[in-house]
Amino acid sequence: MTDVTPEMLRAVADWIFDTALPASVAHALADAARQMEREQADEQRIDELAAEAYRAAGVYLKSSTNWKNASPSAVGLYSAVIRAVLYRIEQEDAGTPTSKVCGQTRPLGDPFRCSLREGHSGAHEAWAGNSTDRKLCATWENE
Ligand SMILES: [Zn+2]
Repeated sequence: MTDVTPEMLRAVADWIFDTALPASVAHALADAARQMEREQADEQRIDELAAEAYRAAGVYLKSSTNWKNASPSAVGLYSAVIRAVLYRIEQEDAGTPTSKVCGQTRPLGDPFRCSLREGHSGAHEAWAGNSTDRKLCATWENE
């Protein structure tokens, strides 16, 4: 049996577009082709990173650094480690709050911008400094 490739799915999707069949079927196939390409790209990235980790470990352990000669168990081990790390990074990225800042400038033509969360109520406030040492620089109301 031949493996289905993204190109094959696209060819079928193109063919369906030219027929009386519903376009939603063609769109679903095109989506499947994109998903397949994404997974292939992920696998390639995992392999590149696993090879990098293997080389680094080889230098540290003063053993082989040649990924092409790595044993199947080493390939499996390093790939599993990279997969786990990438999964963890993905989870952390997904959990990062992407709260936006109001950012409105004070209408006096000075450089103060509101540091409060987007959509806040009340007056605008411009703060300076880091999270442990902050200073309120200016407040102003909407005009
Ligand atoms: Zn504001």
